[in-house]
Amino acid sequence: MTISDMFEDGRGERVSVLLPLRLARGFDYRVPDRVMVKPGDYVTVPLSGRMVTGVVWDTLSSSEEFDSSKLKSIAERIDLPAMPPVHRKFLEWVSAYTLSPLGMVLRMSVGRGMANGPPKPKVGYVLGGAPPERVTRARERVLSTVADGRPRIPLDLAREAAVGPSVVKGLIDAGTLIPVELPAYLGTLGPDWSRPSLELNEGQTAAAAELRHKAGAGRYSVSVLEGVTGSGKTEVYFEAIARALELGHQVLVLLPEIGLTAQWLERFKARFGAAPELWHSDLTPSQRKRAWRAVADGVARVVVGARSALFLPYADLGLIVVDEEHDPSFKQDEGVIYQARDMAVVRASLGEIPIILVSATPALETVVNVRAGRYHRVHLPNRFGGAKLPDITAVDMRAHPPERGSWLSPPLLTTIESNIADGEQIMLFLNRRGYAPLSLCRTCGHRLQCPDCSAWLVEHRRRGRSQCHHCGYTLPLPSKCPECGGADSMVACGPGVERLAEEVDSRFPDLRVEIMSSDNMTSPRAVADLIGRVERHEVDLLIGTQIVAKGHHFPLLTLVGVIDADLGLTGGDLRAAERTYQLLFQVAGRAGRADRPGRVVLQTYVPEHPVMTALTSSDPEGFVAREIEARRGAGMPPFGRLAAIIVSGHDPSKTHKTAQALARSAPQAAELQVFGPAPAPLPLLRGRHRWRLLLKASRSIDVSETVRRWLDTVTPPPKVQVRADIDPYSFL
Ligand code: ADP
Ligand code: ZN
Repeated sequence: MTISDMFEDGRGERVSVLLPLRLARGFDYRVPDRVMVKPGDYVTVPLSGRMVTGVVWDTLSSSEEFDSSKLKSIAERIDLPAMPPVHRKFLEWVSAYTLSPLGMVLRMSVGRGMANGPPKPKVGYVLGGAPPERVTRARERVLSTVADGRPRIPLDLAREAAVGPSVVKGLIDAGTLIPVELPAYLGTLGPDWSRPSLELNEGQTAAAAELRHKAGAGRYSVSVLEGVTGSGKTEVYFEAIARALELGHQVLVLLPEIGLTAQWLERFKARFGAAPELWHSDLTPSQRKRAWRAVADGVARVVVGARSALFLPYADLGLIVVDEEHDPSFKQDEGVIYQARDMAVVRASLGEIPIILVSATPALETVVNVRAGRYHRVHLPNRFGGAKLPDITAVDMRAHPPERGSWLSPPLLTTIESNIADGEQIMLFLNRRGYAPLSLCRTCGHRLQCPDCSAWLVEHRRRGRSQCHHCGYTLPLPSKCPECGGADSMVACGPGVERLAEEVDSRFPDLRVEIMSSDNMTSPRAVADLIGRVERHEVDLLIGTQIVAKGHHFPLLTLVGVIDADLGLTGGDLRAAERTYQLLFQVAGRAGRADRPGRVVLQTYVPEHPVMTALTSSDPEGFVAREIEARRGAGMPPFGRLAAIIVSGHDPSKTHKTAQALARSAPQAAELQVFGPAPAPLPLLRGRHRWRLLLKASRSIDVSETVRRWLDTVTPPPKVQVRADIDPYSFL
């Protein structure tokens, strides 16, 4: 018999309980007499034969008649701080905006682990009643350790008293030590805001004062901290964090790639004397539960995380910082589709708290908001310590082509040689993993393609495999053509980082060369290890994909060569130019920090492209201004609004028919247009056929509501999925 069965009769209160499942709203449950609940409380409820943890979302009017015999009862209330009203409001907002079921948004907040129940509190031990019958030297040490009254978990106690675990266990069994419940996060030392900051220069001091003021004002504001790479933005926003901590609030810092922030963490610890709470996908389930609990209890003072950290139920969030706010990885494209930077601004607004967006190259949307006076700009114009921005030049690959089968142009080679002569470090940037993006049969022209995606297989020679970068499908590198059987006829087309490393090795056999890409940087430890070796100058030349663009500092790195600066420019992506500019600017920023001037060489076939001229003439303002005008002219975001509908399914005909039905029932109004259906740029992905429709509307239109009504007009057949992407970033 379950607890709920015992309370089946008798009158009681009714509540709606939201469960972290694909459900748009909560289910009604009866509140048994012995339980008291209020909205926000975590409760366990029976659901088709199992127990599920959810959140009390609403109290329902008790005057209304209901058949209590049909209603299941709440099993128990979990002893956790209630989810704050502002957080529930936020989840509802995100659900309505992204058209995701509220239960799925809740799921991001309570997670899979949490849904099975809260973390178990630890049990610590203190001195209890019964003195032990026999007192050994070892037992004596334990007794004198616990004499201070502080509870300890057995393992810590044994370690502190320098005895074996069995000694502690013996005292527990004897009743000498008695258990007390400890919060799950015991032992965490919080960051100390009162420690001194680094000595800030004049510009930094002024910027820090402005941000401190915003952080302490107790109301909603959006500040944009803009400054070139190396200007000291991190040190400056640390001051705003210090202010929020001083006022007793929690702080959230969102970073794009949490695994790559060893240097950031070191600086945080140097400033605040303790580590922040980390939240990312690599946490173990028990670390996850502990961190979640610490956030909900308000014990975690500063949380640093990837985008999902935004959905934690903060007890008292008082400041949000979004570092590298322009970074595309803030957009989540699976499950609940959302832009974490935009949603962070919403969270700040709902909570009436300040938010700081940080970037060297703010997103165009952000720039437009600054110009409109909605956001407040705080500017750091110079690199710290008088370091100069690197000198950026373009190599016209039409005039200076590399030799056949080579990827380094003569001008870049000359620059590399002189840099080596000076004993400094080099970085070559190529945003392509593996050895070659394509394998081709020289006899019959066959190309290795993924069976489940419209994509070529990428050759990973070091691993001896061909791999699809969209679904992970792999096969061993074929020795003969799978189509015509021609022996040794498969050839690699185009360069990846491995192939570039091969060229560098053959040209400069004495250089110590390393590759940095997501294929070998599989853990934060691997990243920290490689960064350490570069810092100690055990590496002369680093070849990397976009993961090298993130904020690492290498004082001896004075030359950055961009192998294919045009790589991001192709494709119909609205933000292609903007993103290429941001990425290349960020990569360029790796060159010449400290007191050594840096040089950046861009290999390009279109040196006249606005992105290239913006970089080589250091005229970011001009470039951004022209991009803004182009978007304004075309009515594109942020001047207009977009929503994408993606229809996908294994059955090509049913999928296409659903897309056509949606086109027929498309909303019609003067301020909006619907395009498509067109095959998605990846018409086949993980075995699913895909069609896209695009809605473009003026800013006056409530796009979410319009799309919601539109999707209601078509019921897709089973196994055909229709998904909305409000404010799409990816045009795959
Ligand atoms: P950004 O984020 O703008 O690229 P960082 O905050 O990473 O710049 O700072 C660049 C480098 O300069 C870092 O190594 C940082 O420690 C150093 N730095 C910045 N400001 C100061 C300061 N006031 N005193 C000492 N070092 C500083
Ligand atoms: Zn694939």
